[in-house]
Amino acid sequence: MRKTGYHEITGVIHCLSGLRVGGSDELLQIGGTDLTCIKHPVTLRPYIPGSSIKGKMRSEQEQKLGRFGGRDQSEPCGCAGLACLVCRVFGPHKKARHELGPTRIVMRDAACTRGGETELKSENVIDRKTGTALHPRKVERVVAGSEFSLRIGIQVWDLDSGCEHNDKNGGDALVEFVKDGLRSLQQTGLGSGISKGSGEIEFQGLKLDGTPFTL
Ligand SMILES: [Zn+2]
Repeated sequence: MRKTGYHEITGVIHCLSGLRVGGSDELLQIGGTDLTCIKHPVTLRPYIPGSSIKGKMRSEQEQKLGRFGGRDQSEPCGCAGLACLVCRVFGPHKKARHELGPTRIVMRDAACTRGGETELKSENVIDRKTGTALHPRKVERVVAGSEFSLRIGIQVWDLDSGCEHNDKNGGDALVEFVKDGLRSLQQTGLGSGISKGSGEIEFQGLKLDGTPFTL
């Protein structure tokens, strides 16, 4: 087993709407609970954790390919199959022993490069019968127009020579798979509250190993 290549995708994550990273839609609390966004401990500037971008991209690709795990299909894919690009690129979920080699994608934290101010947005849950607002809460989000630096590493191993995706082979297939993931993120969004108008993004100035490309 040998590492044979490394590709890097760089670019800018441009926020078309406010962006919420750190809050969770599952934690719907009664009262005016502030759900604050994640900030760097030293600079106090918001950032997008690489794990957050990676997790969202993974779930998008799983939905597109219909690959899920767990007894009720509610967990990430952990099939560890040689033909499963989700497991190959992102690592098989909850599986310590497998033949796929190391996780191919290296998602760096996205530092804020422009904007970065935060705002409080009120979100209500509407009672369907009465039409009145229940559990109003305020969530903190980064303002529209803010920008974050995108940096994704893609490691290629000799094990990838037989890989195929969108008519590409080997390491190029892995790159193509990640580009697909970026396309999906641009269609849906990043962070939480996407269905309530947050997290709409656009990738700008994308480069693969220094060469510009478009999605
Ligand atoms: Zn899998």
